[in-house]
Amino acid sequence: MTASTPDEDYATVVVAGGGPAGIMCALLLARAGITVVVLEKHSDFLRDFRGDTVHASTMRLLDELGLGAEFRALPQSRLDSFSLPDGAGGSVLLADFGTLPKPYDYIAMVPQWDLLNLLVAAAAREPCFSIRMDTEATSLVHDGGTVAGVAYRTRGGATGTLRAHLVVACDGRGSVLRQAAGMVPREFPVPFDTWWFRLSRAPGDTGQKATLAPTFRGSEILLSFTRTTYFQIAYLAPKGDDARLRAEGVERFRERIAGLRPELADRVGEIASMDDLHMLDVKLNRLQSWHRPGLLVLGDAAHAMSPAGGVGINLAIQDAVAAATLLAGPLLEGTLSEQHLAAVERRRRFPTVVIQRAQRLLHRVIFATALSGREVQPPRFIIWLARHVPPFKRIPARLIGYGPRPEHAPKFARRPPRA
Ligand SMILES: Cc1cc2nc3c(=O)[nH]c(=O)nc-3n(C[C@H](O)[C@H](O)[C@H](O)COP(=O)(O)OP(=O)(O)OC[C@H]3O[C@@H](n4cnc5c(N)ncnc54)[C@H](O)[C@@H]3O)c2cc1C
Repeated sequence: MTASTPDEDYATVVVAGGGPAGIMCALLLARAGITVVVLEKHSDFLRDFRGDTVHASTMRLLDELGLGAEFRALPQSRLDSFSLPDGAGGSVLLADFGTLPKPYDYIAMVPQWDLLNLLVAAAAREPCFSIRMDTEATSLVHDGGTVAGVAYRTRGGATGTLRAHLVVACDGRGSVLRQAAGMVPREFPVPFDTWWFRLSRAPGDTGQKATLAPTFRGSEILLSFTRTTYFQIAYLAPKGDDARLRAEGVERFRERIAGLRPELADRVGEIASMDDLHMLDVKLNRLQSWHRPGLLVLGDAAHAMSPAGGVGINLAIQDAVAAATLLAGPLLEGTLSEQHLAAVERRRRFPTVVIQRAQRLLHRVIFATALSGREVQPPRFIIWLARHVPPFKRIPARLIGYGPRPEHAPKFARRPPRA
């Protein structure tokens, strides 16, 4: 189908959800000259307490799209390596991102809204792209057995339908459209939930160095992300502990945090009440099939990722790149069929399964071990390899930085660097 003139009630492609998967998919399709409308239920991208890590695969892609310089100008900190306790009071360096080819030899920690705003600004330069904020996709519109658009509701209460040749559901792990299509993901058990909050950060606190290394004490785990003026902190506890933690009260919670990170004890009073904690029900799941006639499900909507390893944004973006690469031609020619949608799933299922298996292993070996009060340490032979075979540290760095089957920008979406 050739690109149509923007029309209030029709777009060639409707993308539900303006997260990393949805915006990247829409940007690439718009660069191919395909009319695409994104529906995003929030009024902005200021969603706090979400993933921050931008890996080598995504940074390389941004360069291919001509957006690398703008990305590097965003406020960010660098993560150069990943270590774990060695069980003998020290730590062992498991992944040295400095061994990756430059300039992608680190993980960038960038607030997710900054990355999304950058991608939306790039997409808005394409005449075929538009985004409707404050607009929630509520269900699917069908023509016979084929999905032919979405029904939506705006924050102001207006309702309507938007017809499309293809609907791409990128509406996250609670996907309404997945449910509307009767698609039910297979759930994998996760042993923990996370409670997010902020504590202020003085300029000298950790320099520009980001740390992702978890802090362990007894059966408690704490993760902190370095932002310009504050730390974004995740406290991890066994699934189902929310009521117990809240019943214990804020004073006890502050003691827990001060015990885990004594250098932050002087500011735990900034947690005014338990209402300052945002509980996140961590999920790990995957759809058996990611498509129906006229409908493709991508990103967390197809496979909710655990925060372990911080790969979810990158995987969602890679899904989007594969989808745009495989679907732009058939969409432009008007030959799109469900087989093309199945090809996207076939390409992305393998990396998803590999990464989710790795996350389940991390849940067992690190998180479940720590939460049961046992000492966390990598298996002995891994410690030996990391200490005595220097090239070993390249393997986890490569796996985390690029993951299996990283995607490249399709030719039609490449642009020269913008200053
Ligand atoms: C606590 C936590 C920490 C994480 N940390 C990291 C990390 O450090 N690094 C990393 O790479 N990954 C991390 N992840 C995973 C990562 O956030 C997700 O995998 C990634 O954001 C998925 O992108 P997505 O576009 O598929 O979905 P989402 O990011 O969930 O985006 C979905 C979008 O759709 C919108 N939406 C939802 N429903 C509708 C609707 N009906 N209509 C219209 N719009 C709708 C939402 O507002 C949202 O903007 C973390 C996840 C969690 C839960």
